[in-house]
Amino acid sequence: MPETFKAYQITKDEQGQRVTLTELSEDDLMDGDVTVKVEYSTLNYKDGLAMTGSAPVVRRFPLTPGIDFAGSVIESTHDRFQVGDQVILNGFGVGEVHSGGYGEIARVKGDWLVPLPTGLTSRQAMAVGTAGYTAMLCVMAIQEHRSTPEDGTILVTGAAGGVGSVAILLLSRLGYRVAAVTGRPEETDYLTSLGADQVLARQDFSEKARPLGKELWAGAIDVAGGNTLANVLSQICYGGAVAACGLAESMALPTSVAPFILRGVTLYGIDSVMAPILKRLQAWQSIVEHLDLEKLESAVNEISLAELPAAAEAIMAGSVRGRTVVKIA
Ligand code: NDP
Repeated sequence: MPETFKAYQITKDEQGQRVTLTELSEDDLMDGDVTVKVEYSTLNYKDGLAMTGSAPVVRRFPLTPGIDFAGSVIESTHDRFQVGDQVILNGFGVGEVHSGGYGEIARVKGDWLVPLPTGLTSRQAMAVGTAGYTAMLCVMAIQEHRSTPEDGTILVTGAAGGVGSVAILLLSRLGYRVAAVTGRPEETDYLTSLGADQVLARQDFSEKARPLGKELWAGAIDVAGGNTLANVLSQICYGGAVAACGLAESMALPTSVAPFILRGVTLYGIDSVMAPILKRLQAWQSIVEHLDLEKLESAVNEISLAELPAAAEAIMAGSVRGRTVVKIA
């Protein structure tokens, strides 16, 4: 355990929230039975909200943000983890109410950790990160619904973002035809290179939805919510399913019951934060088996801790492409 280590700290006073890159010591760590030397973290949409204070993601102060990390165990009293083990953390309130990955050292509950799967480096695990692991949970919901590639095309919204990019990679590797919805037509080549078979304009999904539209998609993965999700639901074929994980457009869902009661459409809610460990292990194993790591690398931008505030502004502005890995150690 080093005497001091570098970390972001979010504090709050009458003037509001302040984010500083500072030196912390062991006394600043929160309770936990496993201490991890963090090698990589990532920038997810929720981290953008936390770093910029755009939404009350951080609910305890002072706190080190960063909802995920990968690194090696340097102290442990947990029976599943020993010194030297490589581990991954996603969610469980880390980066929200428990200090997280934007620091060189993190102390957490061992019950929140999963072992780094064989076949992945800590950097690759964070190239996947919470966004990619959530994309896998969405794909698993589509598969568990028994939607097969023969049933038709799967639509992915927010396609050039983190969840969207990894969802396209996974679906296309699993043999599904993929339609990508993006607000950035300039990313068409990028989306095609990930495996999208067709690219659609976000604006075609942004007006108020009719209860039912043409049946176009066997299923969908939605990161947007709002009118986008309502339009997606109205276009799902009979018996299809949508996995909804995000609110990049809106928390609202201005839809009707028509897709559910007239077409038997199923809406799966996807939560990565409190997902049970068994589901996480299954998701990470499927990632190792089905994610094209070389193609994933083409969707990755690596930044340093110092570059985080600017990157957080960029993800809030919707201008970040794919996944942002943060090199910590
Ligand atoms: P990113 O910012 O990387 O991607 C979001 C993408 O959504 C953008 O790149 C953009 O894609 C699209 N988008 C932005 N604004 C709008 C809008 N107004 N209407 C429609 N689409 C829009 O974020 P992540 O991929 O990390 O996260 C995506 C969402 O999923 C977030 O809401 C996040 O909170 C949520 N999430 C939820 C999790 C869970 O456990 N449920 C876990 C992880 C993420 P493009 O430019 O291609 O249109």
